[in-house]
Amino acid sequence: MSDHDPDCIFCKIVEGKIPSSKVHEDDEILAFHDIHPWAPVHFLMVPKKHMASLAQVGPEHTAMLGRMMALAPKLAFQEGCRPYPQGGFRVVINTGDDGGQEVHHLHVHVFGGPRPWTKG
Ligand code: 5GP
Ligand code: ZN
Repeated sequence: MSDHDPDCIFCKIVEGKIPSSKVHEDDEILAFHDIHPWAPVHFLMVPKKHMASLAQVGPEHTAMLGRMMALAPKLAFQEGCRPYPQGGFRVVINTGDDGGQEVHHLHVHVFGGPRPWTKG
């Protein structure tokens, strides 16, 4: 099975077919700025291999998810989030329609920076 879904917008970003403003890239994770930021800092982290959502996660994905969680603070502070505890950031994984997911390629939102934010 292919690692990419030809109809998936985030797969196209991973493949470089759609440009993005990159925050981080390694062998299995890409992070890029959200095109419609809700907060002064707002970027997304995605696995390079297509998977629809957190609902499909199994034991084989725990290392990748752990790496994304460990990357979140590093990238958040690199992108300008203020130090904890006065600053900090929010990590969100929308999953399915009831979870408010619009793009069906697993992604982790990281929001931060001084409030007010547009949403959230
Ligand atoms: P969801 O609602 O699925 O959790 O969030 C999808 C996010 O992807 C939204 O915040 C939206 O702004 C962002 N997004 C959608 N299309 C693109 C795109 O082509 N490029 C970038 N950088 N972000 C996108
Ligand atoms: Zn995809």
